[in-house]
Amino acid sequence: MRDRSEHLARLVTLEMGKLIRHSRAEIDLSARILQYYADKAPVLLADEPLDFRDGSATVINDPLGVILGVQPWNFPVYQTVRFAAPNLVLGNTILLKPASNTPQSALAVEQLFADAGAPRGVYTNLLIPGREVYRVIESDVVRGASLTGSDRAGVSVGETAGRNVKKSVLELGGSDPFIVLDDNNLDRTVEAALIGRLHNMGQSCVSAKRVIVISEVFDRFVTALAERMLELVPGDPVDEATTLAPVCSEPAAQTLVDQVRDALDKGATAVVGGGHVDHPGAFVQPTVLVGVTPKMRAYHEELFGPIAVVYRVQDDDQAVSLANDSPYGLGGAVFSSDISRARAVASRIESGMVWINHPTSSEPELPFGGIKRSGYGRELSHLGIKEFANRKLIVTM
Ligand code: NDP
Repeated sequence: MRDRSEHLARLVTLEMGKLIRHSRAEIDLSARILQYYADKAPVLLADEPLDFRDGSATVINDPLGVILGVQPWNFPVYQTVRFAAPNLVLGNTILLKPASNTPQSALAVEQLFADAGAPRGVYTNLLIPGREVYRVIESDVVRGASLTGSDRAGVSVGETAGRNVKKSVLELGGSDPFIVLDDNNLDRTVEAALIGRLHNMGQSCVSAKRVIVISEVFDRFVTALAERMLELVPGDPVDEATTLAPVCSEPAAQTLVDQVRDALDKGATAVVGGGHVDHPGAFVQPTVLVGVTPKMRAYHEELFGPIAVVYRVQDDDQAVSLANDSPYGLGGAVFSSDISRARAVASRIESGMVWINHPTSSEPELPFGGIKRSGYGRELSHLGIKEFANRKLIVTM
């Protein structure tokens, strides 16, 4: 993967349109995930002796067999590797159903495994439409399924897996809160919000989709964030000078503009942006929305693009209750100079991950996953490798 990193990065940008530097970051992270599991598997999968008074008892980690991964287009290499690496070192084999709009990235990953000497059948792409996936899960050969994608697709996979008594892991959408409690190092916090919201042009499950700011800081924060958004330059995402990439498709761009239009029609304000960019391609203006209320789509729905909704709150309690007023519960971030205050807020957020003084991110050694409509189970780290393991008990008397 490292030898082919530039080729892979260009393929990802070609297929789904993200900035080339974001594609390079994706390939780098993917290689680090493979490295992590290659290095750590013996420790992570070591037998676990139990304290059993009548004999010797051990839990061993056996593979389950063939596991299906259904993956999306937004990080076509990272999400594939995040699923495949722990399962392959555990001893499971992979059927990989990539998103229909990123088949070349999927073929390139399959080729990597083949060229690295993986036996035939260890990692196999299924270039089939999403609506056919249920038939694969129903097959007797398949022992489990993992999906990253929309909650609509997640419901379908979870339902079929449940009906067939097969384990599933679902990593679905998110509407992560990004909470600003004070004006400590405000420039850095604004920069973090910009990265948190605009990395991958906002097409990330853990993007900072709802920015929640304490009242005293709100006006300065909004002005600074809007100024930074105005600096972004649309263009060819392969060009290093481009800072605003298109979103993945024209329909996706239209959905975003419709979501923003709905909010504006019902009384919200776009401090900047609010429409399409006058440039060929699926470009959406980086947008800062304020005054969003529960009667608007933007309050409840996942905004999968460069749109930041910024809310004003009076205190920590209000920040927490707004953060939790979402069907989703994936990640979150809290910014403050007072770490114990930030930790107190973090502990009350209903989500699977909270980062303090950093936008929600992903690293090989850290568990990734959510609760509520964001799904269940964990990927990466010591937890991800056990999701599709038979944690078998062996007792010797
Ligand atoms: P989908 O959930 O439709 O696609 C993700 C994957 O699921 C693709 O491989 C897709 O296949 C497959 N799929 C689609 N329908 C089913 C089904 N019924 N059963 C099994 N698998 C299925 O996402 P979209 O690309 O349509 O994006 C829609 C929205 O979903 C986004 O705007 C965003 O809000 C959210 N999303 C969230 C992601 C995340 O990272 N959490 C990632 C992607 C999307 P195929 O491509 O063949 O349809």
